[in-house]
Amino acid sequence: MTCLVWDERYFWYDFGDSRSLFGGHPYIQPGVHMETPESKRRILNLLATSGLLAQMQELRPNPVSAQELCSVHDEAYVEAVRALSAGAGGTLGPGAPVPAGGYEIAALAVGGTRRAMDAVLRAEVDNAYALVRPPGHHAERDRGMGLCIFANAAIATKLAMREHDLERVAIVDWDVHHGNGTESAFYEDPSVLTLSIHQDGVIPGRGAVRDAGRGAGEGYNINIPLPPGSGTGAYLAAIDRVIAPALRRFRPELILVASGLDACFTDPTARMLLLSDSYRIMSARLLDLAGEICGGRLVMTHEGGYDPTVAPFCALAILEAMTGVRTGVQGPYEELREETLTDHQRLQPHQDAVIGQAEALLSRLR
Ligand code: ZN
Repeated sequence: MTCLVWDERYFWYDFGDSRSLFGGHPYIQPGVHMETPESKRRILNLLATSGLLAQMQELRPNPVSAQELCSVHDEAYVEAVRALSAGAGGTLGPGAPVPAGGYEIAALAVGGTRRAMDAVLRAEVDNAYALVRPPGHHAERDRGMGLCIFANAAIATKLAMREHDLERVAIVDWDVHHGNGTESAFYEDPSVLTLSIHQDGVIPGRGAVRDAGRGAGEGYNINIPLPPGSGTGAYLAAIDRVIAPALRRFRPELILVASGLDACFTDPTARMLLLSDSYRIMSARLLDLAGEICGGRLVMTHEGGYDPTVAPFCALAILEAMTGVRTGVQGPYEELREETLTDHQRLQPHQDAVIGQAEALLSRLR
């Protein structure tokens, strides 16, 4: 059984005006924020209308405490978010506004990721997807960033390791933006292997191959910064040549995927070419690896994905792979793939070169 963790309140986090993502830019016309709740609410609705949700277990999250948030964040930052949220709202990091009431929803997003991990670790379900909002992978120890307030994946991992006596967890971040916050949380920690496939050069402007961990964590952070225009071929090569061998060497007890759907070819924030079927194949690869390495314990927690029309079909494909159920529902651009996108989906030499650089890091994993 696959479970979906979600809560109506996730859709109530209000990022405000479109200009907040650009530092209040004076010449951007005020209007609807790119990160509308719609792209996530439509995922839930497509799961329901396709009939897949009825074949999954639904779980509700509980918020985590301020003390639990401090397993990654500074107490002063957590308190500052809480104070802003209790008042009129404000901003504590670039592109990461905290509206009135935002603290409770952000803490509930961490709790959703935690609930999904608990359900799998207690063997209540086979695998789990946490459809949380706001996302978390850009949030740093002392500030929010890029729509992320609290580090959902990192905090939930720390709590799960403590409560379930885990020694090794791997986090695979396939959001198109580098998972800088997750990387930072475990940069000197060899007990959590962090891997990020992302588009080179977009926000947050980090995630170079050379950033491979520090001190005891040296070798336990692997970045694969793919060039814009990468498609299914490049992503599968990154998984097969870097992520799979890294996971086999590291042998985690659970694999957590930071699942952004913004590498989809219609996403407004990046320039990658993935289709809903790409996410289906990538998910199947991760499920196979989890089955081989850690008893199938695979959890995904939602990150970005901003095309309200296509992102839901990417999520449906992922959850069809996780449940093993095919609904027969197709995304709206599937025929385009055959006619015009196929050539560009193949691995290109300049993409191959980046994957080769990341492959060279594997020998550092002990
Ligand atoms: Zn993203």
